[in-house]
Amino acid sequence: MSACTDDTTSTDKTKGQQDDSEKTEESEANTPDSDENEAEDTKKENSEPEQQEQDKEKVAEPVYKINENSSIVPIGEKGEEKTVLLTIDDAPDGHALEMAKTLKDLDAGAIFFVNGHFLEAPEEKEVLQKIHDMGFAIGNHTYNHVYLPDLPTDEQKVEITSLNDTVEDIIGEQPKFFRAPNGANTDFTKQLVKDEGMVAMNWTYGYDYFEPYMDAEKLTKAMITGKGPEVDVPQSLLKPGANLLMHDREWTAAALEDIVQGLRDQGYKIADPSLIQTVE
Ligand SMILES: [Zn+2]
Repeated sequence: MSACTDDTTSTDKTKGQQDDSEKTEESEANTPDSDENEAEDTKKENSEPEQQEQDKEKVAEPVYKINENSSIVPIGEKGEEKTVLLTIDDAPDGHALEMAKTLKDLDAGAIFFVNGHFLEAPEEKEVLQKIHDMGFAIGNHTYNHVYLPDLPTDEQKVEITSLNDTVEDIIGEQPKFFRAPNGANTDFTKQLVKDEGMVAMNWTYGYDYFEPYMDAEKLTKAMITGKGPEVDVPQSLLKPGANLLMHDREWTAAALEDIVQGLRDQGYKIADPSLIQTVE
């Protein structure tokens, strides 16, 4: 198992139920209304061959955005309110590919937040390529899964930009989403992430990194009810817009299908990350 320090430091945050430290400034991560421009661009691409290069990544018109609380919310009336976002952190370790296949079979989208230290061997790169080819969004979770506030700014920068370069070398495009390990950003990283063209987000709930929920059955129940009574979350955190944190872990991989089904059984739609507004 990887040394994901989310396990320890996120505990208090989850109990408090949001990443309060993020609330003040993250709204900036939401880009201004670029919908019309994108629609224009799409038309042009169809008529002007020289623009086809830019068309490699087909960007659909955004339907959702990530708000200052890391929730996913519809833009205007296009998106469905009763939607949740699935995210898989610390990938691709031992289970990400299996998790991607499970989600693909269920036609459920997700963002895989990856670390550079999992992307060094050729076979690891191949796994990332496969996950990307299956249509999943790839997010930046720093190169070494470090606690960013402990680093000088030049090293914070390298943690983020070197991973963007690594991901681009493998899949041909840079991540559009960023999540800091432990949800711990700094003023410097907040600005850098924007400058790098990424939307930053933390999460609204997740349980797979707490010992009582390192079990597929218990985790499934916690994720689909939103409740984690064994870690002092007696109330449900499942609600429209919830941003669900999961990890590349054995028990999470085993629970994933039942989690998706359980959410859908309650009328929740699983968001397609390609419909989330990104920084242009
Ligand atoms: Zn992590």
